[in-house]
Amino acid sequence: MSAKYIFVTGGVVSSLGKGLAAASIGCLLESRGLKVNLMKFDPYLNVDPGTMSPFQHGEVFVTDDGAETDLDLGHYERFTHAKLSRDNNWTTGRIYEQIIAKERRGDYLGKTVQVIPHVTNEIKAAMKKVAQDVDVAIVEIGGTVGDIESLPFMEAIRQMRQELGRERTLFMHVTLVPFIAAAQELKTKPTQHSVKELLSIGIQPDILLCRTDRFLSKEIKSKIALFCNVEEEAVITAKDVASIYEVPVVFSHEGVDTLVLRYLHIEAKERDLKSWEELVHRVYNPKAEVTIGIVGKYVEYEDSYKSLKEALVHGALAHNLKLNLNWIEAEGLEAGDQASQEQLADYDGILVPGGFGKRGIEGMLIAIRYARENNVPYFGICLGMQTACIEFARNVCGLADANSSEFDPATPHRVIYKLRELRGVEELGGTMRLGAWTCKIEPGTLAHKIYGQDEISERHRHRYEFNREYEETLTAGGLRISGSTPDGTYVEIVELPDHPHFIGCQFHPEFKSKPLEPHPLFKTFVGAAYEHGLKRRAEKAAAEIEMFHRPEKVGRR
Ligand code: GLN
Repeated sequence: MSAKYIFVTGGVVSSLGKGLAAASIGCLLESRGLKVNLMKFDPYLNVDPGTMSPFQHGEVFVTDDGAETDLDLGHYERFTHAKLSRDNNWTTGRIYEQIIAKERRGDYLGKTVQVIPHVTNEIKAAMKKVAQDVDVAIVEIGGTVGDIESLPFMEAIRQMRQELGRERTLFMHVTLVPFIAAAQELKTKPTQHSVKELLSIGIQPDILLCRTDRFLSKEIKSKIALFCNVEEEAVITAKDVASIYEVPVVFSHEGVDTLVLRYLHIEAKERDLKSWEELVHRVYNPKAEVTIGIVGKYVEYEDSYKSLKEALVHGALAHNLKLNLNWIEAEGLEAGDQASQEQLADYDGILVPGGFGKRGIEGMLIAIRYARENNVPYFGICLGMQTACIEFARNVCGLADANSSEFDPATPHRVIYKLRELRGVEELGGTMRLGAWTCKIEPGTLAHKIYGQDEISERHRHRYEFNREYEETLTAGGLRISGSTPDGTYVEIVELPDHPHFIGCQFHPEFKSKPLEPHPLFKTFVGAAYEHGLKRRAEKAAAEIEMFHRPEKVGRR
């Protein structure tokens, strides 16, 4: 198959939602029966984002094959059926790593190794690899036009047009059309400059996706078209929306897919976006609300938990609910912040997500204890499962100071300890248990009821594991191990049978949840939280009525 390519670049400022735009175009093309693949190039020098702080980079998205990738790949998977792997995300660092390895092997036969053609060839080869067996490959170039570091990628896509021609390549530029309050006007100049910048490196965009907070009038569109040398029809209003799941629908109203098909000379069936339109209807017409408290360490920067947040939204949508998320700084709980502690009583469900390092752990343990003792639905993911085991060991099994050797290497009870396969490994990059692993689920458990399957596959990203030496003590205390690797080596799921909904998993189910296919663990957790909320509010109301009727209260009046 000779795939066609859509190259997505960004201009003016960062954070314009290029990734979401690329994912939404993919979604629209799939709705017309086309097969797509998506990829992202990140111009920084780290080999992958795995070693970067969540504050720097946001979430690290993990693929089935264990690649630690940019969070935009999460959008690609949530909006399309593309199967992503380490081939779908490249950084400058990884491209150079390959080139230097080749040079050391002598593969360049004595030639001088240069950015053009060697680096650009490597980039083009990576693009062509993901384009095998698909109709359209959507290639997102990270960063903003004009950045020095993205130049080799820009040059590579310019060469792709040269090589493959207009019918097989399309340049889509995401830009900003800001509304300036003082002038009460939308301004087109930043877009003009950004296109000029692209032109200076030999790229004439075909379609402009204009990010804006209001619809672009015909006049504005023709002005942009004239100055930027594109068709008026190709100036698209990419208006801010309240839900990201509306983007494909909004783009369809602007006819973006029709335009893409015309430019790329693709014949395809009529679009069928019914399931997405129905989803958007549910987003804006919830029957009730549910409030989940997330107790974590990177909560002030929501991008750190991108997939988690979306998976909870999917879980809520599955029950027609509006999700209220409250992010609680775990360190605040630890410091005895009264307001935060009292807040715990206001949540319908409590979740402790993944994380690394010691900071905030004691606060997470306070929240978990609260959930366990008060029958509040609890869901622990990775670190959240490990901390649930620590809390149980300390407060139920009487193992004072039980801990993970990650947080206290000298703990007398290493309930969680370094993965046995990683002992002696000190290097940080890519040295974790990563990617998809099979887990066997015990019949008759909550996990089994949730999945309805004996075996599942989920994605991992961790360095520590449950220490089986404590299995007997913890299970005697009432903890149930409901999922393990098929060979029994690793504990994957724990739960509390005496609790309405208390479950922790060593893997990250959030990476596999999609709006149209909500993950069962999130769906059931949000469902249980909603039920708990109803009960909690009913009990509160009953208590208030009782207080009101109490004779002593009347007497005091
Ligand atoms: N820090 C823990 C570990 O490495 C948990 C990791 C995570 O939550 N992703 O095992």
